Amino acid sequence: MTTLEHSIHSSLSSDFQETLARAVAGHDLLPQDGYRLMEATGSNLSALLLTASLVRDRHKGRTATYSRKVFIPLTNLCRQKCGYCTFAKAPGDPLAHTMSPDEVLAVAEAGRPQGCKEAMFSLGERPEEMYPQVREQLAHLGHRSMVSYLRAMCELVLEQTGLLPHANPGILTREELAELRDVNASMGLMLENVSSRLTAPGGPHWQCAGKLPSTRLDTIACAGEMKVPFTTGLLIGIGETPQERVDSLLAIKELHARYGHIQEVIIQNLRVKEDTAMRGWREPSLLDMRRTIAVARLLLPAMNIQSPPNLTPQAYPLYLLAGINDWGGISPVTSDFINPEAPWPGIADLKAVTEEAGFELRERLAIYPEYLAQRNGFVRESLRQRILAWTDHDGYVRREEEPW
Ligand code: SF4
Repeated sequence: MTTLEHSIHSSLSSDFQETLARAVAGHDLLPQDGYRLMEATGSNLSALLLTASLVRDRHKGRTATYSRKVFIPLTNLCRQKCGYCTFAKAPGDPLAHTMSPDEVLAVAEAGRPQGCKEAMFSLGERPEEMYPQVREQLAHLGHRSMVSYLRAMCELVLEQTGLLPHANPGILTREELAELRDVNASMGLMLENVSSRLTAPGGPHWQCAGKLPSTRLDTIACAGEMKVPFTTGLLIGIGETPQERVDSLLAIKELHARYGHIQEVIIQNLRVKEDTAMRGWREPSLLDMRRTIAVARLLLPAMNIQSPPNLTPQAYPLYLLAGINDWGGISPVTSDFINPEAPWPGIADLKAVTEEAGFELRERLAIYPEYLAQRNGFVRESLRQRILAWTDHDGYVRREEEPW
């Protein structure tokens, strides 16, 4: 061991060194390992970040991906009101809106000349259960539920523009997943956290039936049974403890071990907004985010791990040095309607900072490369030809389809 290596090792606590050594050796980490890593500060934190980067390199190389998308906020009406959300509106609010088929199509069509290949549908959850006005509006559109309308809009976008839908409609039944899966390349539901404390009175998920962790885990499991490539993740800074973050990552790991369908895990930082019940909360620090990303990488070494660059605008390249390998969906056309104050970086800027950090930026589709190359049953037959026409033998978007 060199003098430098010796001094690095001697600055770490022995149990911490042992945990990192087990991660590097490829052993599965236990919950207590995760708890220990999540407490890292000082030299331990530096070593954690470096180890997570090395483990990412081993499993994912030096490629960071993104998906070129349009963002379609199909409806901002929602049956619940999470404590941090400004997206959801009630009927009567001048900003409450459900998009018409023409509006949906106009957004998707604007994405094609910009090279977009994904249509990400984000919407409030089951608003028709809460509001008679929504039921009337859906009836006028020829539908009984928002999920049924969503299916029709996914189909419309696919047929008219070829963009691949990726829908995030909240919790779903098995029947609803079956209704949507043939018209979606992948789907998503943020677990956010497995802590049921967060649903207690005064918590961020109070009176939000769809945010019960068991309900969300059920939807994610059901998607696995149905072989739907699936996106999930954690929302950081909503009152969860460090241990609860680890428990949440391990719950995702367990579902993925069972079904193999979790194509990416998002580590997303809360952005506090003034006109919410959680105004005045402290946002998670950059170090806290990087620590959580690094722990996610060591608990889920081969997973695609993503953090949205627009939510940490000045410092997001540092996430690459904590273990991520994906930037998520970036739109050259539409805003992030969930965080409208946070514009996407330009894709040329994203490429420049990714390269400065020592990585190659590659475009991927709404379905990750490994699901095209290795796994059976995850690509819908209805979408296969379209997906293959866009991708190379590694599952990335063909270089001639990229804008540079
Ligand atoms: S975060 Fe989602 S589920 Fe919660 S209120 Fe907003 S739109 Fe509804």
